[in-house]
Amino acid sequence: MNRSISKICNKKLLYKPLQAFILGLCIATGTSVMAQLLPVKGNLINLNSREGEQLLLESKARTDYLPLSLQFVTQDNLAYCGVASIVMVLNALEIPAPESPEYGKFRLFTQENFFNNEKTRQVVEPQVVARKGMTLDQLSQLIETYAVKVQVYHAGNSSLEEFRKLAVQNLEQPGNFILVNYLRSSLGQETGGHISPIGAYNEKTDRFLIFDVSRYKYPPIWVSTSDLWQSMNTLDSDSGKTRGFVLINPQ
Ligand code: CA
Repeated sequence: MNRSISKICNKKLLYKPLQAFILGLCIATGTSVMAQLLPVKGNLINLNSREGEQLLLESKARTDYLPLSLQFVTQDNLAYCGVASIVMVLNALEIPAPESPEYGKFRLFTQENFFNNEKTRQVVEPQVVARKGMTLDQLSQLIETYAVKVQVYHAGNSSLEEFRKLAVQNLEQPGNFILVNYLRSSLGQETGGHISPIGAYNEKTDRFLIFDVSRYKYPPIWVSTSDLWQSMNTLDSDSGKTRGFVLINPQ
């Protein structure tokens, strides 16, 4: 333990004034230190609500919830939703990770070291992703540069029924994951294309749980299959193709 911290922690006399100071500081700056998420509106349900929690408790297809929640990260910049989603999945799959200077001898995929793999840069450069995000095909090509098997589905070549079947199957199985690429505005959210992992499915209400990686903006939400499907079945002007989903399995 840092000696100065240890000193403070061991002096009971200092504890109360320190506690009062910290409490006062929190009250004084309370509005500026709290996350200011946008409201969850329309037909979406906030996971962090009584109803949202109930949907999770009732869910029978939630095998991926725990491993993903242990690796849940906030995207590093406004366009890094794809990178953050991939990093969550690679860590959850326990794929051997590259070094990361800030963690010494410990290895973990981060949104920075993800691009250390030469092959990823051949798909797309990180500065391009930071500026304009990535398409569904780039997402799958980037994941494929690591030791995993990827199946990509554009909504235009698939169907709601096929998506539901494959997604539920995946959410019931351990050791594999699913990412969705959808248009936020189609769900009544702000605003463009987005990528995030799915963590669970509630059969009774036919809803999927999206682990939204823009955690500075929205909480995880429960979305109906038809709404999610519609938001994936939209045209990405960068690729000229519809958005969709990818299934990721170990090799
Ligand atoms: Ca799974």
